Amino acid sequence: MKISAWFKDHFEARLQGRYLEPKHIAPLLDGYGDLFEISVIGTSEKGKNISCLKVGQGKKVVLAWSQMHGNESTTTKALFDFFKFLNQKNVFQPEINAFLKSYTLFCVPMLNPDGAYLYTRENANMIDLNRDAKVRSQSESRALFELFTKIKPDLCLNLHDQRTLYSLPKNQCATVSFLAPAANEQREVTKARKVAMEMIAPMFLVLSKLIPGQVGRYDDVFNDACVGDRFQMAGVPTILFEAGHYPGDYRREKTREYIFYAFATLFGFIAVEKSTSYLDYFQIPENGKRFKDVIIRNVRLKDYEELVSLSINYEEVLENEQIRLQPVIDQIGDLGQFFGHEEIDAQESEILLNSYENVFVGEKVTTIVDKYSINRVFYKDLCNNI
Ligand SMILES: [Zn+2]
Repeated sequence: MKISAWFKDHFEARLQGRYLEPKHIAPLLDGYGDLFEISVIGTSEKGKNISCLKVGQGKKVVLAWSQMHGNESTTTKALFDFFKFLNQKNVFQPEINAFLKSYTLFCVPMLNPDGAYLYTRENANMIDLNRDAKVRSQSESRALFELFTKIKPDLCLNLHDQRTLYSLPKNQCATVSFLAPAANEQREVTKARKVAMEMIAPMFLVLSKLIPGQVGRYDDVFNDACVGDRFQMAGVPTILFEAGHYPGDYRREKTREYIFYAFATLFGFIAVEKSTSYLDYFQIPENGKRFKDVIIRNVRLKDYEELVSLSINYEEVLENEQIRLQPVIDQIGDLGQFFGHEEIDAQESEILLNSYENVFVGEKVTTIVDKYSINRVFYKDLCNNI
């Protein structure tokens, strides 16, 4: 059986969509008690427990954490898919036993439970925990660093989501990106960084077969306030995973599957066709920023002599325990170098935005229609929940 066949019918279906907060994962933790040791490594600034799952008895110690940014839940879903895979008794049993003998994996699936609850990047004090690695002013940062010091990992996995704007050179969206964070300003290939690069190379190879042109490399600007950079500085190989957009998949259910395959490759459940080296890492294309959620082209606007394009981006708004995609005018101009996940041609029409002629950046969009034929709708907010 291929691992993709297992995933199709057995992924952790109790976690879906983008809004994942502590109450969603708590009942799942209870079900993993046999194989996993579950502990509380600290509490958030608002007093919520930060849980850690430990599995395996091997010498290679791995520390993984997700939802350090509360609104970045895709890798959390993929972690639970992976836990469920390890916990089943039907397929891949020799491989799972070998994994449990080789590795001890510590996973913090929701490092920022307050941010997860509020659906914010930051924690409850509006601090970005991924800029708090130097000062460690927040209890969530201290919990992670205490665990790091206690377990002395050989490898760290820093799990995030990236926005829909990221693109790759062949004009495709960056569905998954990796980074071996820099350990100094010069971005030298230190010993630890080299190991991280070596481990990324096979994941890139496997994912590129599944989603050609949609796997990239994240920006490696050094910042010693970032957790990954900090752990890399400490000499522990660290890999940043960025779960991104897959066409049409704002819920990121496809992307979670690719992140699961990345974990499966990293831990030896997917065979890699050819041997790779750290040098292959440099062949991974770098992320660009050329995507908008929607672009409406060939628009005639009051106050503009030339035809223009309008871009719309979705803001993710938490409403009634669901995430609503709120369309907002992002840019007005030529936009020739950008691509829309959705492209609309207004065919040189004059338009009305929410029944008015004036269009402003930052404006929320309800409808965009033809000024002289208002039943001709170019765009309508469908109030999509993800
Ligand atoms: Zn993040």
